[in-house]
Amino acid sequence: MNQNKIFGNWINGKEVHSGSLPFSTYNPILDQPNSGDFIEATADEVSQALEYASKDFYEFSRLSGDRRGEFLDAIAYEIEALGDDLIQTYCNETGLPEGRARGERGRTLGQLKLFADEARSGSWQMPSIDLAIPDRSPLPKADIRKVMLPLGPVAVFGASNFPLAYSTAGGDTASALAVGCPVIVKSHPMHAGTSFMVASAIVNAVHRTKMPKGIFAHLNSRDHRIGQQLATHPMVKAIGFTGSEKGGRALFDLAAQRKEPIPVFAEMGSVNPVVVFPEKLEHENDQLVQELSDSIMLGTGQFCTSPGLIFGIEGALWKSFCAQMGSSLSQRATQSMIHPNLKYAFNQMKSEQLKHAGLKTLCSMSEVNGPNHVGQSLLQLKGVDFINNPHFQHEVFGPFAIMVSCKDWEELDLAISCLKGSLTGTIMATQESLSSHVSLIEKLQHRVGRVIFNQVPTGVEVCASMQHGGPYPASTDSRFTAVGNDALLRWVRPVSFQNFPQTLLPKALQTKNSLGLDQRIKSIKK
Ligand code: NAP
Repeated sequence: MNQNKIFGNWINGKEVHSGSLPFSTYNPILDQPNSGDFIEATADEVSQALEYASKDFYEFSRLSGDRRGEFLDAIAYEIEALGDDLIQTYCNETGLPEGRARGERGRTLGQLKLFADEARSGSWQMPSIDLAIPDRSPLPKADIRKVMLPLGPVAVFGASNFPLAYSTAGGDTASALAVGCPVIVKSHPMHAGTSFMVASAIVNAVHRTKMPKGIFAHLNSRDHRIGQQLATHPMVKAIGFTGSEKGGRALFDLAAQRKEPIPVFAEMGSVNPVVVFPEKLEHENDQLVQELSDSIMLGTGQFCTSPGLIFGIEGALWKSFCAQMGSSLSQRATQSMIHPNLKYAFNQMKSEQLKHAGLKTLCSMSEVNGPNHVGQSLLQLKGVDFINNPHFQHEVFGPFAIMVSCKDWEELDLAISCLKGSLTGTIMATQESLSSHVSLIEKLQHRVGRVIFNQVPTGVEVCASMQHGGPYPASTDSRFTAVGNDALLRWVRPVSFQNFPQTLLPKALQTKNSLGLDQRIKSIKK
């Protein structure tokens, strides 16, 4: 990446910048701004991007699945072709290690290829056919056929902690493009350079595969203004958001107040409860200390699936486990947050928590090893205090967790019932011990999107059976997932065609089934 350049916005296949508000990204390890100026999009540029997207939506949505698949594969190819420049920019903007950058790029390419295959298969159209019954009595039944159609232009907001996999060409963008929705990316200000480069790769793929140029735009933004304009713009038909509860809720509320409200699929923060059974501690205490401490520290705790609440039953085993967790975390070196703003937010959220009565400190690192490092913290709390104070359920984004000591199973059951929605819920138990507490599985499955047995919650596989989303505040619509094949269902809506001539129906609904889709056909009962 040319460090001295001025970086504009990608609109209709071109880089443009008519604005005059520059900003730069920050290297948290060197504790200094990165070179290169990003020019924030103007209000006119936002409108232009949406006009092009709306105009090209119809052509794009009419393209065959093979053509859209070709486009998504080309995006993956172009991102890979950015080579080490992209990795370097990612590392400069986050302070994350190169291995993490390469791993996240691999996942991003994998997601693009997965959605290329989905576009080709076309199974997301879910054609359903009820044949006419003209001689039905007392009234004849009409021929009715239903298919999924794309919503229109989607605005995508990525999160700071995944500059590739949950950002510019991440799951939201790939899944929306797969079904024929144009995408307007609001670039994340903390990784504007990574985002710009990935956007340039998407634009190259647009040109190379001869896609309509308006189907992708990338807008630089240094504060909430661009995001708010997008959320309220009448040409935006849906929003994909990954980020904080505060940000997601603000956009959700804005979208709901529009003259034409639109769906906002916001994937937000989560505290990811873990329940540890005494029987597990009897047999695997040391391994569990290691695994859970690693999970809390992974990426300096900047993972949406980071374990934030760990529940157990009071007793000698639990007491010793809590102490060992505290000392394991205390022995680890502190790590950098990806941006000074996140360091500030972590320290602020942590001190907010510490104002509440009942917390005992198990680990609190005050000496840090670098400019944007934060001290990991582990606290302990009685079950009754947790149940009585919902404040302890707020996500502290970073290496922070609370061990909740419940006096018995009844109190633990009550604590789990009080939980707000989370992305994941983990049970660390022996199979036998869990069999004696099956009601816990039932309680947990109603509070989270993914229930995990004997594995840590960090790490999200991209596959058809993955559910990444949970009851509010984990996400604004728990019926959908942000990760895996079904992520594309957020960008489509069902439309029925009644009594239509065969040749005028969408191909997916025609009886000759030239697309070879799995049509659900209701047979005629005489
Ligand atoms: P963030 O501050 O909410 O920012 C996310 C995006 O939303 C940014 O582009 C931000 O840009 C924009 N934004 C925030 N508030 C806004 C508002 N009031 N109006 C309009 N736009 C707004 O989140 P982050 O710090 O980047 O990411 C960390 C959070 O993401 C953590 O809470 C983490 O748990 C969560 N996360 C969740 C998942 C998941 O899948 N559930 C995955 C990764 C991360 P501007 O600041 O320029 O407005």
